[in-house]
Amino acid sequence: MLSPSAHSWIEGETLGEHLEEHGVSRRDFLEYCAELSVVLGVGSALAPKMAHAIEVQKRPTVIWLQLQECTGCVESVIRTENPSIGDLLLDVISLDYQHTLMAGAGTAVEKVKAASMAANKGKYLLIVTGSIPTNNDDMYVMIGGKTARSVLEEAAEGCAAILALGACAFWGGIQGARPNPTGAVGVRDIIKNKPIVNLPGCPPIGDTVTATVVHYLTFGALPEVDREGRPLFAYGERIHDQCSRRAHFDAGQFVETFDDKGAREGWCLYQVGCKGPATFSPCPIFKWNNRTSWPIEAGHPCLGCTEPHFWDTMTPFYGRLPDVAGFGIEKRVDTIGASLAIGAAAGVAAHATMTVMHQIKRRRATDQVPEAHENAGENNG
Ligand code: SF4
Ligand code: SF4
Repeated sequence: MLSPSAHSWIEGETLGEHLEEHGVSRRDFLEYCAELSVVLGVGSALAPKMAHAIEVQKRPTVIWLQLQECTGCVESVIRTENPSIGDLLLDVISLDYQHTLMAGAGTAVEKVKAASMAANKGKYLLIVTGSIPTNNDDMYVMIGGKTARSVLEEAAEGCAAILALGACAFWGGIQGARPNPTGAVGVRDIIKNKPIVNLPGCPPIGDTVTATVVHYLTFGALPEVDREGRPLFAYGERIHDQCSRRAHFDAGQFVETFDDKGAREGWCLYQVGCKGPATFSPCPIFKWNNRTSWPIEAGHPCLGCTEPHFWDTMTPFYGRLPDVAGFGIEKRVDTIGASLAIGAAAGVAAHATMTVMHQIKRRRATDQVPEAHENAGENNG
């Protein structure tokens, strides 16, 4: 592994042996797997099976291409203050090529990539960040003397699956926004014969990558996805349905300007542009910066960065979301009079129930690890 591992790797070592060697206890590892099993929605009873499947893995190979992008996605995945087991897991994958993180450059690292792809043909995971420019003979991005399109096609040919990381890699991102001068497209527009999972966001939360890689290691397959290719375990819920400000939406309490009383009281940000009612994302659950907070909790409206072509479809960012078929947002906000009491009570109850259920599930996952390990077949979490 070229980077960023600080932990040496012994030839033939399994992931379990490697984690143990670096101070991760069996109990801690099982607790981590139990948490992840809840995140992945497979039930904590499967935690021991997940742990075993991960432990026996030899170092899995990952090739990571950065095409037309800003490097924000890489920053999001590697940026952490307190390395967790999840970081260590990502740290011990054999990241054989990632041109921003690698110490080397030029012909030497291109040879490393070619050798790794040949040695692991059909088995390596391919992570792609950034879009692929297609105008003017694909000439807007050149890496090692090749166009982004040919670099991608070459790497995709021998991979087992592709993780399209960030808004650019699946829909073209900001480069693909109108008028799209470079003709930017996503991986799915170029590669048609490989499984592709879409991990969107601008940038995405790093945990979505860890959980997807763990799912792949455990079950030998990519997680179940929605029609946009997003894993349901992470992108299956609307922000609006998990939002800590939801009670204020239901109560008709809205921030009108960023310095008003509502803003100071933490009221709903819908009127100042929040796209949470139309956005599927794990932000309220996974949170950011070691689960410290997330944009809406910090006082900023959601921009809808996990939705298709959000630079075009969710702008102006501070404009109120227009009436969306199926959501009835405008109607609900503008007529929030007589029906308020019933609507608010139901909404608050539903939100509170979901929050409590989520907390219980998380607590159970941690509490039942030893039991799940000993009675794996009996405990259905
Ligand atoms: S509109 Fe935005 S701030 Fe308001 S409850 Fe929905 S997601 Fe939260
Ligand atoms: S709150 Fe919305 S815009 Fe912000 S990171 Fe999450 S999904 Fe993206």
